Parts: sequence; structure tokens; C-alpha cells
Amino acid sequence: PKLKVALMGLGSYANRVAKAMQQCNKAIITGLISGTPEKLETWGEKYNVPKESRYNYENFDAIANNPNIDAVYIITPNALHHDQTIRVAKAGKHVICEKPMAISAREGKEMVDACKKAGVKLLVGYRMHFEPNTLEVVNMRKQGDFGKIDFFQGLSGFNIGDPNQWRLDKALAGGGALVDIGIYSINGARYMVGEEPIWVTAQETKTNPEKFKEGVDETIQFQLGFPSGAVASCLSTYAMNNLDKFFLNGAKGFAQLHPATGYGPIKGSTHLKALTEDHTPQQTLQMDAMADILLKGTEPAIPVNGEEGLKDLKIIEAIYKAVDQSKKITLTL
Ligand code: NAD
Repeated sequence: PKLKVALMGLGSYANRVAKAMQQCNKAIITGLISGTPEKLETWGEKYNVPKESRYNYENFDAIANNPNIDAVYIITPNALHHDQTIRVAKAGKHVICEKPMAISAREGKEMVDACKKAGVKLLVGYRMHFEPNTLEVVNMRKQGDFGKIDFFQGLSGFNIGDPNQWRLDKALAGGGALVDIGIYSINGARYMVGEEPIWVTAQETKTNPEKFKEGVDETIQFQLGFPSGAVASCLSTYAMNNLDKFFLNGAKGFAQLHPATGYGPIKGSTHLKALTEDHTPQQTLQMDAMADILLKGTEPAIPVNGEEGLKDLKIIEAIYKAVDQSKKITLTL
């Protein structure tokens, strides 16, 4: 059987996910949750979701009684993820939650606990974790092709544009570039190096405080230190032209991905070879893999569960703390 998925929040990314899911072999859209009746109508027709499986934000708890929904994919603004995840868990359905999983580590922990208590799984919409060139680099690192890892560089950013969007509203976004795009360098550092950071340092620059208000970071450079002695140096920004590059260095070689986290194709090379995996939409690969995780208990090569999302939230908080206190923050994940 296929994983029966309800999409919650029918905005721009949900649109991309819905299109990519048309190519899925193991997952299918069977439900829709939106605050806009017209969207429920048009999406319902387009994706063949019957009226009884269309919900709004007031009545979606009734998915509990819908056998045609196994999981809900939450694709709403960041600050809503926490409450929505807990409601879906209480309805007894698995949760796939977009990144950042929540706007604080405390909320993230509550989400993990709520899903555990309800006996459902919680996954984070980390699409790079299923991208073939990324997986090849991780595989080569595990095989020792790069030798002892000593350095990772991650550059993640773009010009955000429209100053009135929710991404620049602290209440809905929970932060700025770091929680939205810098998070790719954060978990990229973790899966590329293959360790969990034990300290963080960070520096913020803000050139436009009018646009990037209090609590909404424009540009942050941060460094992560790992138990082996490896270090990562990363840049997160909402105010530079496309930055999307990973570089991993080891005693015996290197890997680079550029672009590293865009919608694809991802391109790159290592000291041994070019990285030329075919390009299938990442969301197609992600949803097929998540179907296996949720229905068969498959363990993916790079985990995407709630505990992983929580680690990224803890690192985000440590980075903000390092900026505020202008000092090195140690952390245990
Ligand atoms: P969007 O603004 O295009 O869509 C958000 C949707 O949520 C809209 O349809 C909006 O109507 C709805 N919504 C429900 N309640 C709302 C409220 N109270 N305020 C505002 N909107 C509300 O945003 P998006 O780009 O689709 O992002 C949604 C989520 O997906 C975010 O968490 C974002 O970080 C994530 N995302 C992930 C990726 C990825 O590559 N994994 C890419 C883009 C976005």
C-alpha cells in the first residue's frame, strides 16, 4: 500500500511538493488542509481528493476518523508547526513537518514527546537527506575516501525580497535567514562531517535594520567545533545573491557541492570523480523514502526524525546565544 498523505498549508512549497508527488511510487496525496475554501476546491479537483478528505484549520482533528490518511505533511509558516504537529499526533496520524521543525528547542522537544506519546512518527521535511549526490559524498566519507575530516564550509543564502512576507515577521518565522536557509549549512555540516558539534561561535551583521527587524537575522557567520577537532565555517544570509555551496576537506581528499541545497540538479565533484547522479525531483525521492520509513520502519542513511530536527533547533539557539553574548557556547546534543 502507498503512504496516504494529507497536505496542510497549500502555499508555494506545498505546490512544489504536490507536483513532485505525482511521480511518487510509494506516496499519494489523499487529504488537504487549508484555510481557503477556494484552494480546497481547486486542489481537490486537481489532485483527486474527495470532499470528505478536505479540511480547514478548525476541523482537521477529524482526520482521526479518516482511514484514507496515514500522515499529514505540515507546510505552514514555522511558528505554526508546533501546535499543528501536536494536533495531528493526537489525531493518531504520522507527522511530516517542514523545516525548521519549530521556532524553539523547547517547542521541538514537546513535538517529539507528543508524537512519542501518541505512538506516531515525526519526520522533518529535509529533502537533501535523500539527494543522491549528497548521499554519495556521505557514503564516500564513511568509506574513508577523504581520510580524517578536518574542515567543512557551508554557504547558504539568497536575497529575500518582499519586506512584507511572513519570513521577515519574527512572530511567524521565529528568526531570520538562519532558521530558514542557514539551517541547510547547520545540518549539512553535521551529515557531511559525520559528528555532532560540541561548540559554536557566531557573528552577526545587519546592514538593513528597517527590513530585518529585532529578532530577524540578516547575515550570520558561524563556526562549529566537532569532537574529532574538525571545524565548520558557515555563512547564512538573506541579503546576498545566491550562495549555495558545501565544501568538505579531509586528510586524503575533498568533496564540493555547488549548488549544494537548491531544488536541483545538485552538482559537484570530489578529488576522485565528478558527482553526476541523475536528477529526480528531491521531493519525489523524499516522499517515497518517507513512505518506507513510516510504513516499513526503514532507517534512512541520514536520519530525518524529530530528534534530528531538535538537534538543529538546539544548534540554532546556541548560534543566537553566541551572537548575543559574543562568546563561544558549548553544547551537548
Ligand atoms: P507560503 O507562504 O508560500 O505558504 C504558507 C501557507 O500557509 C500559505 O498557503 C498560507 O495561506 C498558509 N497559512 C496557514 N496559516 C497561516 C497563517 N496564520 N499565516 C500565514 N500563512 C498561513 O510559504 P512556503 O514557502 O510554502 O513555506 C511554508 C513552510 O515550508 C515553511 O516552514 C518553510 O520553511 C518550508 N519550506 C521548506 C522548503 C524546503 O525546501 N524544504 C522550501 C520552502 C519552504
